[in-house]
Amino acid sequence: RAKADGRGAWRFFEPAMDARMQERRATEIALRDALEHRNFTLLYQPLLDVGTLRVSGFEALLRWRQPDGTLSLPATFIPLAEETGLIVQIGDWVLREACRAALAWPGQMSVAVNVSSVQFRQPRFVDQVRDALAESGLAPSRLELEVTETIMLQDSAVVVAQLNRLRALGVRIAMDDFGTGYSSLSYLRSFPFDTIKIDRSFVRDLDARGDARAIVGAIVGLGQSLGMRTTAEGVETEAELAGLRRVGCTDAQGFLFSHPIPPEDVPDFLASTASAFPAAAE
Ligand code: C2E
Ligand code: MG
Ligand code: MG
Ligand code: MG
Repeated sequence: RAKADGRGAWRFFEPAMDARMQERRATEIALRDALEHRNFTLLYQPLLDVGTLRVSGFEALLRWRQPDGTLSLPATFIPLAEETGLIVQIGDWVLREACRAALAWPGQMSVAVNVSSVQFRQPRFVDQVRDALAESGLAPSRLELEVTETIMLQDSAVVVAQLNRLRALGVRIAMDDFGTGYSSLSYLRSFPFDTIKIDRSFVRDLDARGDARAIVGAIVGLGQSLGMRTTAEGVETEAELAGLRRVGCTDAQGFLFSHPIPPEDVPDFLASTASAFPAAAE
């Protein structure tokens, strides 16, 4: 009993910092292991044209497969992957895998890939994108890279140069989670994104709250005058979709249409939407 107390006391005085660092180190090792053993997987969530309800493409969403078969969400491991720099290798795998998957989809359907600002900052990033396209044979116009406002925290000349190098490859660029981060509008002038993705927090209250409607309307208007598409994320209800249609939002994504699905379910999903919305069948 005394001995156990002694050990407990010793553990108690072990610096808390150390325990946290050990846990992070263990997660880092597990992340490396996951890369090596292909324990990451991508789910795909459809993007639809608001006017026709045609599927225009899918966004690739990363999952980490655990030994018990469950899939961990990005929020639980992306921050550590960014801190350790492992996001660069993980992101490279995501790019290759997403381009390869998109090649199996019909026509001009595009794939959207999320890019961490840590990954974006690497001078080699443009080469990674070029290699992923070349290896898969996917047309660059079918790839859309989603960046967030955090990339704008860097020297803007460097950011604009990097975005222009990506644009020169023929890929499209979307500003993800618009309005939630470092929301200076001036960067929309310095760099013409192809798409503005309106964060779910604004979409959610669209049918109930006038202020949400005003914000979404303003973003859509901004997109229209700057020649950018506007995609509403997190659309869950018919009322939200009706609201988006009213303000002229061009694209939508959310549980109303589909949760993120594994790649093997994509053909069935496309077949079922084609019959649900004949306009989509073409
Ligand atoms: P995001 O890019 O804004 O992706 C949209 C998130 O909203 C996804 O969460 C998606 O599952 C979720 N979502 C979609 N429709 C609805 C809806 O109707 N209602 C609700 N409540 N949620 C909806 P997820 O998959 O957990 O991803 C979270 C974030 O993790 C993404 O946000 C993105 O920033 C990041 N992420 C995902 N995959 C990658 C990746 O491959 N690389 C990097 N760097 N980040 C990624
Ligand atoms: Mg995204
Ligand atoms: Mg988003
Ligand atoms: Mg979001």
